[in-house]
Amino acid sequence: MNSTDNIYDLAAAGIRQLIPYKAGKPIEELERELGLTRVIKLASNENPLGPGKKALAAMQAALPALALYPDGSGFMLKQALADKYTIDASQITLGNGSNEILELVARAFLTPDHEVVFSQHAFAVYPIVTQAVGATAVIVRALNYGHDLDAMLQRVNEKTRLVFIANPNNPTGTLLSQASLERFISALPHTCVCVLDEAYFEFVDSMESVNSIDWLKKFPNLLITRTFSKAYGLAGLRMGYGLSSPEMADILNRVRQPFNNNSLALAAAEAALSDDEHLQRTIAVNTLGMQQLTDGFKKLGLEWIPSAGNFVSVDLKQAGQPVYEALLRKGVIVRPVGNYELPNHLRISIGTEAENKLFLQALTETLANV
Ligand SMILES: *Cc1c(COP(=O)(O)O)cnc(C)c1O
Repeated sequence: MNSTDNIYDLAAAGIRQLIPYKAGKPIEELERELGLTRVIKLASNENPLGPGKKALAAMQAALPALALYPDGSGFMLKQALADKYTIDASQITLGNGSNEILELVARAFLTPDHEVVFSQHAFAVYPIVTQAVGATAVIVRALNYGHDLDAMLQRVNEKTRLVFIANPNNPTGTLLSQASLERFISALPHTCVCVLDEAYFEFVDSMESVNSIDWLKKFPNLLITRTFSKAYGLAGLRMGYGLSSPEMADILNRVRQPFNNNSLALAAAEAALSDDEHLQRTIAVNTLGMQQLTDGFKKLGLEWIPSAGNFVSVDLKQAGQPVYEALLRKGVIVRPVGNYELPNHLRISIGTEAENKLFLQALTETLANV
């Protein structure tokens, strides 16, 4: 290669134009940058209580076996998930975060001839995995910040191989009704795979909760993704899963790396599934924290998008980025969502009562000064 060659020209077309996912700012980074010591992060929808005791104990117990490769089939965890959901273990695909499942489905089903339908303001990983394999993203305008299922259906054609739906959606927190979703999936052609991303499933009020797993029996083209990163407090371990027909799981498992989940993650996730107390406490803290934050917004005269998840996007009625930066200087990391076409919103993950209070104080001070 001579010096005038550009290495970027050698990359696959989809990769060349790819804009990488922007993660929430790590606490340590902000502490280093500003010399702060008390930084709180409400930016990545992590569990403010941390991992549960059972998960921690399971990891401790798994440490001595770290010289060995993990169980590449994830037998024990799959069995625990199969028992919990009354499905067969052959319907489960384990991923390095549910993010990996999103990537596997794109790699397994898409080519540059295919189109992928998803909503405006939907999760940022959908355009990335679509573009990485050279497929074409078809982005459908949102309705009241949420998925417009009728409009999405209209954009599905014979080239559409994949539809992504996040329910609840991140970063808007919008939730679709069970009936409307079921109608949508029924209306999809059999040549189109439907990914139902339920990363925040555990936070959905049981009254409106979608029992999408029942649909697996009648929709062989349905893939549900869930994760241990959010409600289970194990984001750092990277553990998620897909639920589908056994045939779809077989296809996804063909492209999966043989040891994509490490031993600690497998052990912790299995233990976390049995830790209902920690899950219930997490949900209770979230419910109270959501009320605390939205009460605070109300006092400030701000509107927010009603959210079914563990985060809420608030409308600042002014550019979000400067407010985000001012909050950083006060040691509070939240998430600007301009890259989601929501330039006047900030997304706040629900924290502990003390964290929420610190955030609201910092926001009140910041808004008084801009
Ligand atoms: C956080 C999130 C995920 C993925 O999280 P993992 O840590 O990779 O499991 C997937 N979808 C949505 C909508 C999310 O917000």
